[in-house]
Formats: sequence, C-alpha cells, structure tokens
Amino acid sequence: MSAATLTALQEAAPRLIDHPQLAGRRLGELGEIVETTRVFAREKIRPRALKIDSIAEHDPGYFDWELVSAGAKLGLLNLVIPRSSGGDSVQMCLRSSLVIEEIAAGCGGMATLFGAHALGITPLLVGGPAYWEGVLREVAQSKDDPRPTVMACAITEPTAGTDVEHHQLVRSAQLVCHADKVKGGYSLNGVKHFISNGNVAGWVTVVMPTDPKRAYETTLGFLVDTSAEGFAVTKVEHKMGQRGSPAAELTFDNVFVPDEHVIGKPGDGTPAIAGVLAGSRPVVGGIGTGIARGAYERLLEWLTNDSAAGDLLEQQQVQLALAQMFEAIHVSRQAYIDAATAFDRVSMGKLFGHNLLRLYSRVPHQVRGLGMTRKQLRGDLGRKQMFTLIQNEIGDAGLSRSLGLSSMSKARGGDTAVWVTGLALEIAGLDCGPLRAELEKCYRDAKLCQIYEGTNQLNRLEAYDALVAGHSMQVIDDVMAGFNKEKAR
Ligand SMILES: Cc1cc2nc3c(=O)[nH]c(=O)nc-3n(C[C@H](O)[C@H](O)[C@H](O)COP(=O)(O)OP(=O)(O)OC[C@H]3O[C@@H](n4cnc5c(N)ncnc54)[C@H](O)[C@@H]3O)c2cc1C
Repeated sequence: MSAATLTALQEAAPRLIDHPQLAGRRLGELGEIVETTRVFAREKIRPRALKIDSIAEHDPGYFDWELVSAGAKLGLLNLVIPRSSGGDSVQMCLRSSLVIEEIAAGCGGMATLFGAHALGITPLLVGGPAYWEGVLREVAQSKDDPRPTVMACAITEPTAGTDVEHHQLVRSAQLVCHADKVKGGYSLNGVKHFISNGNVAGWVTVVMPTDPKRAYETTLGFLVDTSAEGFAVTKVEHKMGQRGSPAAELTFDNVFVPDEHVIGKPGDGTPAIAGVLAGSRPVVGGIGTGIARGAYERLLEWLTNDSAAGDLLEQQQVQLALAQMFEAIHVSRQAYIDAATAFDRVSMGKLFGHNLLRLYSRVPHQVRGLGMTRKQLRGDLGRKQMFTLIQNEIGDAGLSRSLGLSSMSKARGGDTAVWVTGLALEIAGLDCGPLRAELEKCYRDAKLCQIYEGTNQLNRLEAYDALVAGHSMQVIDDVMAGFNKEKAR
C-alpha cells in the first residue's frame, strides 16, 4: 500500500486512528484492500457501469458474472467470512463498509450486489460457530470459480417490509410465510420479494416464523439451497436504479430444510435480525457515501478537465456547492465508520473475536466441520452457551446502541447520496456531454439507499429509540428468559 493511500485513509477517516487496536498493521491491512478495490472500481467497474445499467433495463435478471468473478478473486465475496472459515475477515463491518464505498463510487448496483452477498452470509455469522463451517467454507472456496457461489438474504414479504425489520412492529406485521416442523427439519411456504441476488444465489438465508401471528416469539433462520425442490424464482423486478443488482421474488412451496441448515430455534430470529441489521446498515451507509462520492468525483473531473465546463470552477457558488458536497460525504463516512466500529468492537463483532471462540477456531476445521461437532453446537447446551456469551459480552443495551448508530448511518448515507447526486446534476446542467448519463445513473442509484434495509423513516425511529430516548431492546433477555422457563419446567 502506498503511503499516499494510508494518509488518504487516515484523513478520510480520522477516527480510525483513535482506536489503538486499529493502529499500525490493522489499518495497513484495511488500507490495502481499500486501495485494491479503489483501483478495481476505477479501472473495471466504472467503465462498465452504464453498459450494465442499459443491459439490465431490458433484461432485469442480468448478472455480470465476469465482473463478479474478477471481484471474487480480489476477495470481495469473502469480506465478512472469518479467516478460520477460509475467508478474509478481520474487522468485518468496518472492512466491508469501506470496501463497499469504493465499489459504489464506481457503480451503486455493483456495490449492492456485493453487499447483498455479505448480507446473505451475516445470519450464519450471528447464528454462532455451528454455522461457520460447511456452506460458509464452500462459499469462501469458490472465489476462484468462473461462477463463484453468491448468497442472498430474504426477510421482506409482499405484505410486510418495514415492520419485519423492527422488533416491536413485527408483533403486528401481516406476515404470511411460515415454517412448519417436520421430521428431520422444517418445511417452508410463502413468498419473499425484492430479494437482491435472489435469482442467482446458490444459497439464500431466509427468515420465517413458525406462527406468522406470533412472529416475535417464533421467528428463526434457514439456509436454503436454491436447487431444493419447491424453490422457485417467480419474478425479477424492473428497477429504476442500481440495475446491476437484480431483485427477485422467491416462492417457497413446501421447501424442505434439513436440521443442519436450520439457524437457531423459534424466537432466536428476533435478536438475530437486530444483530444482522446492526452489521449490515453501516454497509448501506457506505453505499450511499460511495454513490455520492462517485457523482462528486465525476463532476469535479469534468469541471477541471473539460473545456465545455468553461469557468464554472472559478464561480464562488460552484465552489460553495463543492465544499458542501465534500462536507456531506465526509460526515456520512464518519457516521458509518462509527457504526461499523461499534459493531466490530462493542457489539456482535465482540463475539467473533471472543477468546473462547478464537480458541475454538484453532481446532482443525476438519473437526469443526464434523456433523457431530456442529450438531452439539446447535443443540440446547451450545445454543444456551452462545446466548449467555452474547448477554454477558454485549447485552441488550450494547446491541441497541449498535443498531441505533447503524440505523443513523444508513439514513445519513441515503440522504447524502440523493442530495449530492441531485446537486451534481444541477451544476453540470444539460450541456455536459457523456457526464449527463453518468450523473443521471448516480441519481437513480441513490434513491434505493433511502428505501432498502428498512426505509429511512424506520431507521430514524430506530435511532430515536436507541440514541435519543436511550431505550434498550429486550430481545436477548427474552431468549434468556425462555431458557430459564424451560429449566423451571
Ligand atoms: C431494490 C430493492 C432491493 C431489496 N433487497 C432486499 C433484500 O435483499 N432482502 C430483503 O429481505 N429485502 C430487500 N428489500 C426490501 C426492503 O428492505 C423493503 O422494501 C423496505 O424494508 C421497505 O419495506 P416496504 O417496501 O414493504 O415498504 P413499507 O413498509 O410498505 O413502507 C411504505 C412507506 O411507509 C412508511 N412506514 C411504514 N411503516 C412505518 C412506521 N411504522 N412508521 C413510519 N413510517 C412507516 C415507510 O417508511 C415507507 O415510506 C429490497 C427492496 C428493494 C426496493
């Protein structure tokens, strides 16, 4: 990594150097992958972005396997997979957010594609060590394949979106999907929609309750093989922006999921979703920041190098606008860095780095991958130990604060993207040649950042609860209370 990149990273993210754990080697490692991705985004993604956008306008299921496999070779599909499972992850949330910002500066759709893959993996990480072998290792090992294994995560249903992503609103959500216990596993039924990567994923992590009327108490996770009988992609959406990342409707018609791919027990899904969103929303903050930066950089290049821009750069109102754009991008980046660092240092990331689990990761992976070992970890004792660790190390207060910061960074990133891209379009005007199409795409790409991973309204309500009112969720305590009830029986 060049000294210039390290300095740029430190300047762009001054708070990183306040964290002693990140000083030196760790920051150097982060800088390397950020720089590699920046070059990849500049040389490979950006030149192809408009082409992908126009192909996918007519063929919404289009997936650029060539770019994805080139990115996979650089480790972009392994960003959140722990090293002990064959991936590259250290500082998983911070690393993936910074890297995804770089991809988004090249193309918002490609950023969502890689981000949605990471989102598909996160329920397995949050589920605990029982899920850190098997499919996770298979995904990590596919990085050099011409068609690496891509993941997706399915939470949203046609009748339930905002509410399924909130631990209280979910109690009154109009859910239809349901999972029924059958011999050796569960049978899944229902429809999930707007699922990014859903039409190309090899595996989808799916969240469903056993009783849709009692979703808070009965939700759990499933790892679904998309070649399973009864699984079908029934629609792919025509998107306004971020077309490089397809969004699909998935239908489950008695899809059997064997016990080894069931994540947790009924009720575990509620804290798990909070843990997943605490880690995935800073990444969306990174996407918003990156889309805004992409528009700002394109505009500045044009103002500086193109004679058609005339003396615009000399005008004070343009200078003021550029300074405001820079400021908004900077603040948005700081917000997601804070949220990502909180995730890695004080909430779920603390679990991944816990001494007990580090010790466990030294056990040869052949032993960790044995069916018997994984069954024990999934069993009642293993599960109880996991939740006890989570309660002692993180607790509801830690998880709530992490989710609050994460929601704030997501909303900030989305608004920054829409505002900066709109302003860039205004400054460039109509007569800016090929820049016009690039900026229009940035503007269309930006809007989604205010919608997915929970709308900005929902995210701000989450931030109000955790950061303004100082409320704490009771999701971990509720699972622990369940253990105590079982013991008393
Ligand atoms: C392109 C795309 C990709 C996506 N990818 C995925 C994916 O990979 N996986 C996945 O599971 N989901 C995905 N989603 C779904 C996304 O997370 C939901 O669209 C989002 O959570 C909003 O839900 P909804 O669309 O049902 O809107 P609704 O919940 O119907 O919201 C409609 C409006 O009402 C407002 N609103 C609703 N409830 C409240 C409330 N209580 N208080 C205040 N305002 C409220 C909302 O803010 C919004 O403005 C994707 C969506 C899109 C568009």
